[in-house]
Amino acid sequence: MLTLNELVVPEVPEWQRFNEKLQSSVTLASLVLTAWQIGLWFARTLVEYQLNRRAKQPEIWSNCAHCGSRLHSKGFVSRRMLTIVGWVEWKRRVGRCPNRCVGSHVIPFDGALGISAYQQTSMELVRLGCLLAVFLPFELAVQLLAQLCGIGISETPCGTGCSSLGIKQYIS
Ligand SMILES: [Zn+2]
Repeated sequence: MLTLNELVVPEVPEWQRFNEKLQSSVTLASLVLTAWQIGLWFARTLVEYQLNRRAKQPEIWSNCAHCGSRLHSKGFVSRRMLTIVGWVEWKRRVGRCPNRCVGSHVIPFDGALGISAYQQTSMELVRLGCLLAVFLPFELAVQLLAQLCGIGISETPCGTGCSSLGIKQYIS
């Protein structure tokens, strides 16, 4: 289990940057906001640690739906997702039929996580973005998400469906 003691050390560049910002924060507001950002960073790191640890568990491959051959691992491939704690990245196994059957490409860990092939925004963030956009003017919802999570939404409102929200990392 990853602990705070392993992250809060001078060797971790992110912590160095946050610590400098924390030490130079003068007002209570800036101190709280910096601590909030550190909390998001720690949450992001914990999520990535858990994802990478779980993705390394042994996989029992199923058989190809077309030819019946046992699927083979093609190795680990990176995955990236925008979440309520920011962008998280991990690597998971991708499997395929040794006979290269069409449609035999499988990623069991994505299924276990409940995410789809081309999904780039996690559901908890989509839900929060939609809730904010339903109850607040869009511009205010954008401001709140940026303030709370450091996440920015594109200028396209939620009219064509919340899953199509153009959510991107807020760059500050
Ligand atoms: Zn096959």
